[in-house]
Amino acid sequence: MKVIHHFKTHRGDTYKIVSQKRIRNGGYDCFGLCDPPDDEEAIIRISQGMSNYDLMGTIIHEMAHAFFYERSETNVTRFTQSVMTLLRRLQLTPNDRRYSRRPKITK
Ligand SMILES: [Zn+2]
Repeated sequence: MKVIHHFKTHRGDTYKIVSQKRIRNGGYDCFGLCDPPDDEEAIIRISQGMSNYDLMGTIIHEMAHAFFYERSETNVTRFTQSVMTLLRRLQLTPNDRRYSRRPKITK
């Protein structure tokens, strides 16, 4: 597990982002996982071994959870897809989107 970033939300909750080999949630491998903001040491976990394209989407997705934790998975996924569509159109996304090895399940 490697710490890659720290940040604070608009509500003052502090998060640590860590990169780790494998993330399991509910019996499934995940790209990412976000702790509730009121956890004493709130952590966003980002899986290793995915494409940079999926890494970008996962970081946007998990940070959206951290800032807007009360919003549904559907809302966060729609937000992420909307941002990624724009970034793709502007050719700002990495070109390796086909090479992820893990199932795309997040929370
Ligand atoms: Zn999610």
